[in-house]
Amino acid sequence: MPNQSTGTEAVLDLPGLQALVDALAATHTVIGPQVSDGAIVLGPLARVDQLPVGMGDDQDAGSYRLRERTDRAVFGYAASAVPAKRWVFPPREPMSRTHDDGTTVSVEPVLARPQRPVALFGVRSCDLAALAVHDRALLARPVPDPWYAQRRAGLFIVVAACTTPARSCFCVSMGTGPAPGAGFDLSLTELVEGEHRFLVTSGSPAGEQLLARLPTRAADTVDRSAADAALRQAAESMTRAMPTDGLAALLLGQPEHPAWAEVAQRCLACGNCTLACPTCFCTSIVETAELGSPVSERARVWDSCFTADFSHMHGGSVRTGISARYRQWMTHKLGAWVEQFGVSGCVGCGRCITWCPVGIDITEQARALARPAGQEPRERKP
Ligand code: SF4
Ligand code: SF4
Repeated sequence: MPNQSTGTEAVLDLPGLQALVDALAATHTVIGPQVSDGAIVLGPLARVDQLPVGMGDDQDAGSYRLRERTDRAVFGYAASAVPAKRWVFPPREPMSRTHDDGTTVSVEPVLARPQRPVALFGVRSCDLAALAVHDRALLARPVPDPWYAQRRAGLFIVVAACTTPARSCFCVSMGTGPAPGAGFDLSLTELVEGEHRFLVTSGSPAGEQLLARLPTRAADTVDRSAADAALRQAAESMTRAMPTDGLAALLLGQPEHPAWAEVAQRCLACGNCTLACPTCFCTSIVETAELGSPVSERARVWDSCFTADFSHMHGGSVRTGISARYRQWMTHKLGAWVEQFGVSGCVGCGRCITWCPVGIDITEQARALARPAGQEPRERKP
């Protein structure tokens, strides 16, 4: 799968990668991959040696393990445990403050502009696709979400194309990877055979300007062929796939399929899948006040369609059972989302599969809905 971008191409070495981080840090808070608590997460990044040098990961249903690689790759793993959404759609977003001075109640909107814009460094093609999904859901509407809009406006995105997908990944079947689509400022494809280097491509005027300031050399056909081969090999090594043909109709048309009850017997309704998912954006509104204080705060906090309270209306929850909550999650993400936003709510990152404590696999659930009731699944290829 060749790189789909058409911008200027050049080659960076490791010191050049540090120059890129330094250039970004001059104007942005740089957020990039690093090892923390036994997983590769995203966090503040200042130096290239903070990256997961020589580390890979083994991910599958309900399982995540770091492993040492035999090379010094810095992007030699699959999707980070933490998706990029928390830097544009944080877990808690203050919305307004109410002040009661005893005679008058006043409400002040809160639109706290981040002190510095954020540069997402080394995020994956699936993360880029997820941002595009959020753009559709939160910006492309009559009244854009102002909190998301202000964080998104200053965002600089450096994508690291994924050359080592995990067993939980299925971005190829969703059309979102491993080569990045549109929307990045710079993309990097790491090449570890021979000279350790990065084919860097600009995807925006801001990316083009930054690239011109970096210590690069011109890309040649060897670099381009190596990058294309790495991405093709990554695509071909992906063993999971979402059966997307007719999926929305299949989901929306079978609310009573026994597969919903079957998955509910395993699902713990823990909500891990929705927290790990880069596109889930369900929230609740909470009001907090301190005793004795005249000020209370209204904030938007992440919620999950797996909690009973999420669908609480007058008289109680409308989704009392786990079956109904799992069905809501999946039919919205892969069915109603397409009707609402013109795009699937799933980008195939596989995080919900990896981080589900009981290993529920959304691609297998889609296949279960396509089978007549009672028919056993066939073995997935190893
Ligand atoms: S539903 Fe699962 S695979 Fe799809 S985007 Fe969300 S976490 Fe990733
Ligand atoms: S599908 Fe898995 S991660 Fe999601 S709520 Fe159920 S048990 Fe938790």
